[in-house]
Amino acid sequence: MSELKVLISRQKIAKRVSELGAQITKDYAGQAVILVGVLKGATIFLSDLARQVHLDATFDFIGVSSYGNRPTPTQELKSGWDSTGEVKLTKDVDQTIKDKNIILVEDILDTGLTMTYLKRLLQARQPKSLKVATLLDKPSRRKLPLEGDYVGFKIPDEFVVGYGLDYAEKYRNISDICVVPRK
Ligand code: 5GP
Repeated sequence: MSELKVLISRQKIAKRVSELGAQITKDYAGQAVILVGVLKGATIFLSDLARQVHLDATFDFIGVSSYGNRPTPTQELKSGWDSTGEVKLTKDVDQTIKDKNIILVEDILDTGLTMTYLKRLLQARQPKSLKVATLLDKPSRRKLPLEGDYVGFKIPDEFVVGYGLDYAEKYRNISDICVVPRK
């Protein structure tokens, strides 16, 4: 693996996560929220964000994977993951979400296919409200029109790792968001 380059430092991430937490705290004042993390990439963002949300808050997790051939890590790095749009649920939330305030917590919005699928799935269960918090957003790659409600950073079309994001399951435990050079 060639050298990783820091794109967003841990200090900048901490500051922005705290701002997002403050905004969520304000928007839902006096209400309870369920933070639903999308496995596995969002786990570190969720754990930091949750501590900046000063509300009656609980956690849940949802897991997805794409149908079709996942590219090899090298292909994924070169051209991104152009999934077919068919998303498969690998783990559902553990509770009923009807009439609850749900915030889906994601690591990165890329084509928007995963989040569009998840929003449709959960919306059908009639939550009181459903919003999306994402640490990163790559708007230039979007295939479906989708906006995050709470967005940490908009980034260019680079393949990033760290702070929960992986490359072949590695680098999730790096504290900064780093670019993997495409060479
Ligand atoms: P989408 O359905 O929006 O195309 O895909 C979102 C998912 O693709 C993310 O949850 C993440 O797993 C993966 N992904 C997209 N861009 C990147 C990236 O730059 N780095 C890593 N590690 N994963 C990415």
